[in-house]
Amino acid sequence: MPYEYDDQNIFAKILRGEIPNDTVKETEHCLAFNDINPLAPVHILVIPKGPYVCADHFALEATDAEIVDFTRTIGWICKELGIQPGDDGDGYRLISNAGVDGVQEVPHLHIHILGGRPMGRMVQPG
Ligand code: 5GP
Repeated sequence: MPYEYDDQNIFAKILRGEIPNDTVKETEHCLAFNDINPLAPVHILVIPKGPYVCADHFALEATDAEIVDFTRTIGWICKELGIQPGDDGDGYRLISNAGVDGVQEVPHLHIHILGGRPMGRMVQPG
């Protein structure tokens, strides 16, 4: 059983309204909110409302509607914040950590949207 979802994780508690959050956008299938410890001028977390542990879990088992909603929400946020690369903005970075090697802290899928400054190299050389 590769995907055992822990419903006591902090994002599950946020989704249940047990912990407050600074919501950026809520849709039928996902929630986007500001990271509590921002690492850039823009640092937003986008999470599905469903119990998915990480990106591969979501990609393999989420419904088409959930996947479309999640993906469109990321696009909407980048557009609304004006961080799209090109005439309007200077770009951004998406990160989704998974498991031990990915150094995932919270075991509920989340995409970090980071922007507002140059992000540096993608990863540290191993
Ligand atoms: P990970 O390392 O799992 O990819 O990232 C987890 C992220 O969740 C971190 O950037 C951390 O700052 C953020 N985080 C942890 N607890 C909370 C919380 O209670 N509220 C919010 N908004 N972000 C949190």
